[in-house]
Amino acid sequence: MRKYSLQDAVRKGFPTWASHQTNHQSSVRKSKAKPNGKKPAAEEKKMYLEPEYTKSRITDVGFKELVVLPREIDLNEWLASNTTTFFHHVNLQYSTISEFCTGEACQTMAVCNTQYYWYDERGKKVKCTAPQYVDFVMSSVQKLVTDEDVFPTKYGREFPSSFESLVKKICKYLFHVLAHIYWSHFKETLALELHGHLNTLYVHFILFAREFNLLDSKDTAVMDDLTEVLCSGGGHGGGGGEGASGGGAGAQNHGKER
Ligand SMILES: [Zn+2]
Repeated sequence: MRKYSLQDAVRKGFPTWASHQTNHQSSVRKSKAKPNGKKPAAEEKKMYLEPEYTKSRITDVGFKELVVLPREIDLNEWLASNTTTFFHHVNLQYSTISEFCTGEACQTMAVCNTQYYWYDERGKKVKCTAPQYVDFVMSSVQKLVTDEDVFPTKYGREFPSSFESLVKKICKYLFHVLAHIYWSHFKETLALELHGHLNTLYVHFILFAREFNLLDSKDTAVMDDLTEVLCSGGGHGGGGGEGASGGGAGAQNHGKER
């Protein structure tokens, strides 16, 4: 299986938004039909919503508790550590289906009836396929999380004032990648028996983003139906799950439950 190579993406020198934080480099456009004239995919059945798949997880851990800022840990450190981890996990999850995410199979970065466009550092719209878009995302995020000025690791270095907005941007782009995996590659994820991993990652990511208000509800609306099922906390869900012992009950009582 071909693995997605981050190094390759970085070497290709894709544009990034790292040095142009104020530029609006990604936006959402609604399209009524796919470019190839097919019916909008939204009318097709969403396999990932089938209960037999949505209940699949790799752990019963109570994510609502897990995402809460621990006492004595600096908020920015917590955001940095988790964001970096989510980046690696989303990258890994995408790598499992990347051989199917080709320029032919995924001509645009589409999720439901929404199409994402990348904007280069001059703000110019870049026409790209889904794998190219994912490359843009991964290389940009990689550049950011390894930039000592943005994600400082050395003692005494401080986070920039733009840190939170950069974390929000990273989360938005990681969300796009996750949504694309569900929308266009769920069948393959299922064949690889990795849907439990995907669901678990999605729940953890969404609950973390909710806890710190990192995602705009307008941006996540395309996946509201899935989020509702996976993160509502009912049954085997994000609130700790029915099978969670100890942590589950605590998570249900957590004040920030939404
Ligand atoms: Zn794809």
